[in-house]
Amino acid sequence: MTDIRATLRARLDAAVGSTQVLTAPADIAPYLTDWRGRYHGNAQAVVRPGNTGEVAEVVRACAEARVGIVPQGGNTGQCGGATPEPGGDGVVISLARMNRIRAVDPDNATLTAEAGATLVAVQEAATDAGLHFPLSLAAEGSCTIGGNLSTNAGGTAVLRFGNARELTLGIEVVLPDGRVWDGLRGLRKDNTGYDLKQLFIGAEGTLGIVTAAVLKLFPAPRTRATAFAALADVPAAIALLHAMKQALGDRLTGFELISGPSLALTRRQFPALPDPLPGHAWYTLVQADDSAAGSPVAADLEQALAAEAETGTVQDAVVAQSGEQARALWALRENIAEAQRLDGPNIKHDISLPVSVIPRFLDEARAALLAALPGVRFVTFGHLGDGNLHYNLAAPAGTAPETFLERTPAANRIVHDLVAAHGGSISAEHGIGQQKRAELVRYKSAVEIDLMRTIKAALDPAALFNPGKVL
Ligand SMILES: Cc1cc2nc3c(=O)[nH]c(=O)nc-3n(C[C@H](O)[C@H](O)[C@H](O)COP(=O)(O)OP(=O)(O)OC[C@H]3O[C@@H](n4cnc5c(N)ncnc54)[C@H](O)[C@@H]3O)c2cc1C
Repeated sequence: MTDIRATLRARLDAAVGSTQVLTAPADIAPYLTDWRGRYHGNAQAVVRPGNTGEVAEVVRACAEARVGIVPQGGNTGQCGGATPEPGGDGVVISLARMNRIRAVDPDNATLTAEAGATLVAVQEAATDAGLHFPLSLAAEGSCTIGGNLSTNAGGTAVLRFGNARELTLGIEVVLPDGRVWDGLRGLRKDNTGYDLKQLFIGAEGTLGIVTAAVLKLFPAPRTRATAFAALADVPAAIALLHAMKQALGDRLTGFELISGPSLALTRRQFPALPDPLPGHAWYTLVQADDSAAGSPVAADLEQALAAEAETGTVQDAVVAQSGEQARALWALRENIAEAQRLDGPNIKHDISLPVSVIPRFLDEARAALLAALPGVRFVTFGHLGDGNLHYNLAAPAGTAPETFLERTPAANRIVHDLVAAHGGSISAEHGIGQQKRAELVRYKSAVEIDLMRTIKAALDPAALFNPGKVL
């Protein structure tokens, strides 16, 4: 055992340089747990390669030693996908050093980034080129393009631009046998057989390591409008969504739902944040962008809101008068997850449903959960325009967090059974990781699971890539 470890260590040192092979417990500790401190695992080393060739050499060394590999980006994932298994003895490969923007091609409207580039760095590189990369989420300062693709990240602009899958034209991947597939094509049309990149996008590191990607860019938004509206209930929010789509067309880029209790919790944890429309049951944050300078988008948004206020759909609304005000409104939405973390342990559900059935789902889930977990607190928010809710549950006042968390399986069963009954998904944008493995088997058909296992066995027959995740 010691010899195998020593041989592997020597190969890893040779591949990336000994300073980039971490083994001291204090050095590797941050890589062995997730940002919420929910998952903890073990690994014999953390390796930090600096380029694709080094990743390939590390993978070959691990494959020959039959050692598991856990790819890790910014470690902001929600499902424990980047955390090694407890008792694991594998190697974490951190892509953090591979953070170069390799190329920007304004005429082709593409950008090629290495996997470890943070999402913010990619957005900034696009902006510097006079263009726009629309993927946006609250963890964008820390999460990486490799992680975004591997989780098929969604975020706040899916309504207009799609999720990571739709924003990717090409990828470079190190396969489980150490070969490199250079699929870095910047083509919007390419019907030459299977679209292999789609296998790796959303695979959560179970089929290979994404080392770089060609991403789609868009015209830069030159005019922006942001509004915050108060509503009595979720059907009103859906009515407003329809009205905004009609009034703004594809200038509507974001439509976020926030429940009153979610807002109150966030303001309790972050009292400096504004409280633009106190005392309502539900809120929506509406974002509209136009690439044309001097576009009347703000006036159009305001007019559409006024029309909806007249019909009674909207109870009250504010339109940001400056970039600073818009950022403050977004901060209310983007700090909910962190406020929940500070508030204490909670049971999270990242679900999607046809928008039309969301009100019925919410009514049914609320009744069933209150019966099973009396006093449970609902922290409901999400990307309503995409049918994606973060349907989170916090402990009843006075209940010890541990006691509440013991009820996670019961809560999951209620929520996920209802989601399945209404034709929804138990993971809209966060993935499966360790958290939802058993749920995946429960809710996907046997045929679908069989196809997934067939693909996994074909690409990673020794099952070394991200063991214990997804399947
Ligand atoms: C405050 C907050 C808000 C968030 N909001 C959103 C949101 O709105 N929408 C959303 O979709 N997500 C959201 N997330 C979740 C998270 O940010 C995304 O899942 C993100 O895409 C993960 O990127 P990462 O670099 O941190 O990946 P990690 O957490 O490091 O890894 C995630 C998974 O991808 C794999 N992986 C990472 N890099 C690679 C690679 N190069 N090759 C192969 N596999 C790899 C890992 O093994 C793991 O399975 C949020 C997280 C936080 C903390």
